[in-house]
Amino acid sequence: MRCEKCGNDDKELFIYRNRIITCRKCLSFKIREESKDYTHGDGEYNLSYNLTSDQQKASEFLLDNIKDKKDCVLNAVTGSGKTEIIYESIKYSVKNNLKIAITIPRKDVVIELYNRIKNDFKSSSVVSVYGGKTNDLYGDIVILTTHQLFRYNKYFDLVIIDEVDAFPFNGNKMLETFLYRAMKGSVIYMSATIPENIKCKNTYYLNKRYHGEKLDVPKIKYFFHFLEIKRFIKRHVNDMVLIYFPTIKEQILFSRKFKLPHYVVNSKIDNRNDILDKLHKMRKGIVLTTLVLERGITFKNCHVIVYKADHSLFGYENLVQISGRVGRKKDFPHGEILFLIDKKTKSISKAIKMIKRANE
Ligand SMILES: [Zn+2]
Repeated sequence: MRCEKCGNDDKELFIYRNRIITCRKCLSFKIREESKDYTHGDGEYNLSYNLTSDQQKASEFLLDNIKDKKDCVLNAVTGSGKTEIIYESIKYSVKNNLKIAITIPRKDVVIELYNRIKNDFKSSSVVSVYGGKTNDLYGDIVILTTHQLFRYNKYFDLVIIDEVDAFPFNGNKMLETFLYRAMKGSVIYMSATIPENIKCKNTYYLNKRYHGEKLDVPKIKYFFHFLEIKRFIKRHVNDMVLIYFPTIKEQILFSRKFKLPHYVVNSKIDNRNDILDKLHKMRKGIVLTTLVLERGITFKNCHVIVYKADHSLFGYENLVQISGRVGRKKDFPHGEILFLIDKKTKSISKAIKMIKRANE
């Protein structure tokens, strides 16, 4: 027995409901039929700058694969400008009346990308779909959280999966089934940390940031003292300092003892977007955060500390993504990254090796 919708084959999860066998695993994902009508656009876009020659090559690689209807992978370092690299592929697809989805793990990032794409692709119909906003499902370009793919059946010609290794997509059988059910064409997988199971022959490696400067390599400090953090902050008093914690518990304990003014951001804080807006405007301050800000966030002048970077919750992907938060802007291409640890873990070694290799 196998659920058509979510791929579940665990007998225990099937129940009788009104005399019909029903899968309990995806019971809460109800599909509502609605009109698929929308005004088609032409896919033309406005970008106020040119792609770098490296970005241009990556863009051509993706476009060639889409034309051949082949799945492909873009393995691009943090800060390489992945979004603008997919523009030509989007344009081609809209022009040819192919349906496109761009999926991202987190709702905040869906909203941010939606605003950006809507602004750049003014003459196309762009919609966003996420928990709490599911009234408009169809358009030339659909930007959605991975979970929302369950609403579509053999609909998309092209699915672009951004941050493919991030929670919750990676290794989640149900979401994978949603994906294959929602599409009828090809997939572009993107991330700075592509998981082994997705790497294929058809991978393009983009090892350069869009501004051409190298990635900053994390420094390691063993058996750290509180003073270490104070000194770090003093060095960057006019900038943003992000301190990453493995758990909310550690973060709160630290926050209570920490005397300097600071902000706390984690998944349980509802107004985190307001806090982030404020920080974007102020451009300086100390932020205690969890992995909730590991990706999809760009501050102009920022530096990063990973508190207890040897904690088991910090995988190498997390450490690479966190390190990639610094130096993302042309006029601020570098920043300091500090890992505070007691012992070196495999994840730390792998992350540093990866960053160094990209710089070669
Ligand atoms: Zn199911």
